[in-house]
Amino acid sequence: MPSAATARTTWRDGRWSTSPGHSSARSRSAWSSQLDGFKALAHSYGAQLRITRLRPSGRGADTWHDLHPTNRQQRQIYDWLLAAREAVLTGDSFFHLNALGDPLPGLNMCGAGRVVCLIDPIGDVYACPFVIHDEFKAGSVRDNGGFTHVWRHSELFRELREPQSAGACGSCGSYDACQGGCMAAKFFTGLPLEGPDPECVAGEGQNLLSAYAAVASTTASPRPSMDHSKPVAIALGRTRTPVPTAGS
Ligand code: SF4
Repeated sequence: MPSAATARTTWRDGRWSTSPGHSSARSRSAWSSQLDGFKALAHSYGAQLRITRLRPSGRGADTWHDLHPTNRQQRQIYDWLLAAREAVLTGDSFFHLNALGDPLPGLNMCGAGRVVCLIDPIGDVYACPFVIHDEFKAGSVRDNGGFTHVWRHSELFRELREPQSAGACGSCGSYDACQGGCMAAKFFTGLPLEGPDPECVAGEGQNLLSAYAAVASTTASPRPSMDHSKPVAIALGRTRTPVPTAGS
């Protein structure tokens, strides 16, 4: 991996500025030329670009409906990622685009609770960084057994590691390549977890969202449980290890 250094790029006062740190770009518009620019910028700092799919979670919950890529833009991102291949990191977050043809490098399925999880600033463990919600909380590193116990024995992680129902995706010829897409994207748009991603390249997710939007009682999507961008007060306990005494 050539990412010996990283850089942070931000949009401020009408222009891009870069400072040392981590380079991460979210998909927006004019994809190919912007992505080429980001890649060159990261490279100029000796860094490796990582782009991440915009999910409707966290702060993305407020912007996803306005900013998420159209199907045409998803095709552009897919073509660009295929051409860039190993030169750009994605955290395997665009695997739903595998349904467009040749698979992108990395996983072909959601890795939540299988190969990835999130430990938040107060030690709570969630199935992935994009599903910070009580429904996907597996435990806490502050509980007995710590992270090892949560990762190996939590009921949620055990369930996620079982074969998942394909639901409405079961009849899709691309199921092996896409496996229904991103769990977080489905959850926070109110779609069933066993079914298509809201950005399904076959349009199935958008069809469902449109159908749901026509029924007022089903339009309320779940919200993240906690705003992790603000401090919260927590009570920290300390686990003492018994000190062996002479003769014990
Ligand atoms: S229908 Fe399901 S499996 Fe097929 S492309 Fe869409 S999200 Fe993927």
